[in-house]
Amino acid sequence: MSDFDVDLFVIGAGSGGVRTARMCAQQGLRVMVAESQYLGGTCVNVGCVPKKLFVYASSFASEFHAAQGFGWQVGNPQFDWPTLRDNKNREIERLNGIYGNLLDNAGVELVRGWAKILGAHEVEVNGKTYSCGKILIATGGVPFVPDFPGSELAITSNDAFYLDQLPERILIVGGGYIAVEFAGIFNGLGVETHLLYRGPLFLRGFDEDVRNTLKEEIEKQGVKIHFSTDIEKLEAFDKNVRATLNNGEILEAGLVMYATGRRPNVDSLGLENTAIKTRDNGSIVVDDYFQTAEPSIYAIGDVIGRVELTPVAIAEGMALTKTLTTGVPATVDYSNIPTAVFSQPNTASVGLTEQQARELHGDDLRIYRSRFRAMKETLGGGDGKVFMKLIVQATTDRVIGCHMVGEGAGEIIQGIAIAIKAGATKADFDTTIGIHPTAAEEFVTMREPG
Ligand code: FAD
Ligand code: NDP
Repeated sequence: MSDFDVDLFVIGAGSGGVRTARMCAQQGLRVMVAESQYLGGTCVNVGCVPKKLFVYASSFASEFHAAQGFGWQVGNPQFDWPTLRDNKNREIERLNGIYGNLLDNAGVELVRGWAKILGAHEVEVNGKTYSCGKILIATGGVPFVPDFPGSELAITSNDAFYLDQLPERILIVGGGYIAVEFAGIFNGLGVETHLLYRGPLFLRGFDEDVRNTLKEEIEKQGVKIHFSTDIEKLEAFDKNVRATLNNGEILEAGLVMYATGRRPNVDSLGLENTAIKTRDNGSIVVDDYFQTAEPSIYAIGDVIGRVELTPVAIAEGMALTKTLTTGVPATVDYSNIPTAVFSQPNTASVGLTEQQARELHGDDLRIYRSRFRAMKETLGGGDGKVFMKLIVQATTDRVIGCHMVGEGAGEIIQGIAIAIKAGATKADFDTTIGIHPTAAEEFVTMREPG
């Protein structure tokens, strides 16, 4: 037993913090966690979970449409926003409770309030100072809105989850995960949705075929896309917001939502009382084992600015638990992290994009592509296409990239990620029997590069 109040003080009860606190406590450490807002952090409260519930809600619009081709009389379906929002809120409250129980059952002590680091072994919450053997910073991130005239009129994803009512028209600014996902959500819920992105094509960093396919599919669903476009100023106008674009055009909308990235949550955290180093954007610099420049202080998750995904924050927490409880340093393998954008249709990827593969392997590649009309569309009457792509290193036959746009892409790519992580070759894919009739079977039946 050390002289400190606790062995480990975790700041932030989000994806990474909760996992590390629970696991370390179960291994016998005396752990305290401070949370200033909500148990479960971003993912549970204003991220993955409510977002996915909204994606489900919005996808009914196309389902109702398709149902008629299958013989259903669906009348004129009506959507009620307060019902969705309030049901979602109840589910989140249920999850908050579960997170509280998880911490309780593991023997972690929870303190509600803002934690400030006073020194290498001291944290203050609500005016009380705790001495700690080690400190973990798992404070996540907050939405970033650039500074420009009228930027205070913009909302962010945090606000979108709690709107009093839906607007008739929304402008969404950004070309990343959140912008694309919320464009699908609002569009599906019947809001006239404009997506404005400063570059020529959204989802920078994803495979170019995927980006182009998704653009086409989203446009078919009615989202109005404005690429190479930025907002110069916002003004309040009547009950609306008036946006002046960089091409001189003026657009009015009930809401303007900025989804222009997130920044690390490090303000007022007391980093100045430590030797911790941060980058220009505020993210905390750690080594392979999540140790900061202050040896008793560690950091994981969004606040270290590596891969901002919940399973990654959890994996970092698991590695750190091993380091802290066994003394054997453990790290995370960041290669082949699968990811999905819950756009409509879904987009999901694992491994290299074609562009990355060309940089690494030049012409030593075979690329397989497949584009087809989804079976459901035949009677459903839609024009939605599924796109699949495999990238194979020619000399080794290893599948080094796999990409999909289409219903269930997230579910499908999760399975393929295991094969790729295990080093599967194209021959392994080819000798795998398909499940018929599925879209996924196309991944084991693509024979001709092209
Ligand atoms: P967080 O979960 O953000 O937790 C940090 C916690 O620390 C918060 O609860 C905060 O209140 C608390 N805190 C901060 N400072 C202090 C302090 N000084 N004292 C006390 N408490 C403090 N990822 C996916 O993998 N899949 C998805 O589908 C997905 N969808 C997303 C959708 C949206 C709209 C957003 C915004 C994010 C989404 N993410 C998704 C990303 C995911 O939510 C984050 O990567 C993940 O939550 C990061 O976990 P974390 O532990 O680093 O931080
Ligand atoms: P992203 O980093 O994904 O995208 C930010 C977007 O905003 C980019 O298109 C970027 O453009 C643009 N942008 C940045 N600064 C400006 C600016 N000053 N003016 C105009 N546009 C700007 O951030 P998100 O906010 O969408 O999401 C944050 C992170 O959360 C994601 O990166 C992801 O890791 C995680 N997340 C994961 C999800 C999932 O797993 N399904 C869902 C939602 C979030 P450019 O590309 O040109 O730089």
